[in-house]
Amino acid sequence: MKARNSYSFITTPARSSSSSTFIASTSTNKNPDVIVIGSGMGGLCAANILRHVHKKTVLVLESHYLPGGCAHTFPIKGYEFESGPTILLGCSKPPLNPLRQVLDICGLNVDWISYSSWGVLGDGDEQWDLELGRDASNRPKFDSIIEERSHSPSLAKTEFAQLLEKTLPLIVPATEIPAMALRADSKVLFTLLAKHTKSLFKLLQLPDAGTGPFDPYMNGPIHTVTDPWLRSWLDGLAFSLSGLEAARTPASAMSYVLWDLHRDNGSLDYPKGGMKSLVNALVSGLGDDEIRLKSTVASIDIVGNRACGVTLKNGEKLESNEGVICNAPLWCLRDLLKPAESDSGNGGVKTLLDEIRSVNMTRSYLHLHVGLDAEGIDQSKLKPHYTVWEKGMVGDSEHVCSELNMIAVSNVCNFDDSLGVPEGKIMMHAYACGNEEYGIWEDLSKEEYEALKKERAETLWSAIEKVVPDARERCEVEMIGSPLTHERFLRRPRGTYGAEVESLFQDGSTPIDGLVLCGDGIFPGIGLPSVALSGVSAANSFVGVWKQLQNY
Ligand SMILES: Cc1cc2nc3c(=O)[nH]c(=O)nc-3n(C[C@H](O)[C@H](O)[C@H](O)COP(=O)(O)OP(=O)(O)OC[C@H]3O[C@@H](n4cnc5c(N)ncnc54)[C@H](O)[C@@H]3O)c2cc1C
Repeated sequence: MKARNSYSFITTPARSSSSSTFIASTSTNKNPDVIVIGSGMGGLCAANILRHVHKKTVLVLESHYLPGGCAHTFPIKGYEFESGPTILLGCSKPPLNPLRQVLDICGLNVDWISYSSWGVLGDGDEQWDLELGRDASNRPKFDSIIEERSHSPSLAKTEFAQLLEKTLPLIVPATEIPAMALRADSKVLFTLLAKHTKSLFKLLQLPDAGTGPFDPYMNGPIHTVTDPWLRSWLDGLAFSLSGLEAARTPASAMSYVLWDLHRDNGSLDYPKGGMKSLVNALVSGLGDDEIRLKSTVASIDIVGNRACGVTLKNGEKLESNEGVICNAPLWCLRDLLKPAESDSGNGGVKTLLDEIRSVNMTRSYLHLHVGLDAEGIDQSKLKPHYTVWEKGMVGDSEHVCSELNMIAVSNVCNFDDSLGVPEGKIMMHAYACGNEEYGIWEDLSKEEYEALKKERAETLWSAIEKVVPDARERCEVEMIGSPLTHERFLRRPRGTYGAEVESLFQDGSTPIDGLVLCGDGIFPGIGLPSVALSGVSAANSFVGVWKQLQNY
């Protein structure tokens, strides 16, 4: 069984399958060096690093008619709706996150809009703005929110200050070690030792080398948060990162976000022109013949124990010189890999499928995309993002992460007038993030399904109405997306947000030679910066350590 929650260089011996044992690409055939399955942000980052940094030829095969995976943008009635992510940190100022690092090293440009507050709406009249950064006396601006909202503010402020202090060492990997130093095999130890010795030693001193969950910082022994309001806030923040409460969210991700939100000059970043600009920038880094849309991979072709190419759903066979990177969600491998009982060389397939069996999915999503008439709406009074707690933030019976409680409302027209939106209109996206059960949507008749969609979208409508009270009268386009919609259009098994942190793959290595994984099933998990990191690691595994070290 694959060890969890720790890099292989620390706890497990090297995989025999290391991709860096591949033969260098000297062939003159037209096969790409590496085939990448999926154009999610993980796959696009991997392909760009391979092409621009390691000078490999690539072919990205995407099943959808649009690139970007969860981050794709789709046009409907003159609007360009964003299917998923909008919130990013670390794109406009150092330390830059792995996604921005990929853009920079590959010479790709995106303009960033920075902003520093988002709205929080609870039940009743609870309403406040999360202001990022620090005040004149160098205290987190968040302290004044704690003061206002917690029932024991001085305890909560002390606990919060100590939390920031105790988690500070955990930001070492993100702030000191560039994504280019990583690779999806145990040889990562050499790259870290060669170029980042001091940071490596700091990393090794962290509990679980910084790869464990946040639990010891919430519930002891390292730190304990007892204030109920602060705990709820941290759970909510974590939930939007991982689909799980704080104690079960990666400690590295939580620590980095806490640090970045509350550091001097902290800001959030959004790509000008929308997520489409970000996806387009990464796609523009590839040649026309290096990305194929509407190309669903039906199987990864393994000969002996080596990934040699893929077969598409239409029967077309494509070979690669050096291997395959799979960016499709982990669970898709159950269909993509065919165990051949009779072929002893395929033992790696069976092992990998066994490992995937133990990866738990987080819950799914409910979406409401609306296009609204903006006549008379004063955007200067609104925020680009809201977190709405429909049932309240602190409560004995309703936990902050319970179903249909925490709803995200994205109002990106607030700060970007270059989005694909008809004149005089705005678009909003409300979603129940990782708190919708897939099971209640299964096996319904068409009528039952439509009725359930209408019924459950009421909560999302209510969240939007908290922002724009007469939103329904203004509505020109309404699209409700269920977990089944999410599964279908984002190609995500059971519409999952991603893997639960306890069962994340520690890195993208597999027991099959030439097959490397990237995406949100791989540490550090969900989120654009995280999948960019696993994309870079996967790409780096296709060159030897010395070449990798020379290339950044
Ligand atoms: C509503 C929503 C809001 C979010 N908000 C944020 C946010 O604000 N900030 C943030 O950082 N993150 C956010 N996330 C999370 C983030 O979007 C994801 O973690 C990330 O985009 C996942 O990227 P990926 O590359 O791992 O996979 P995916 O985006 O899932 O990409 C995988 C790709 O593989 C393709 N594929 C699958 N099977 C095949 C096949 N057989 N053949 C060919 N292609 C195939 C899929 O079509 C897809 O394009 C959000 C996610 C959602 C859904």
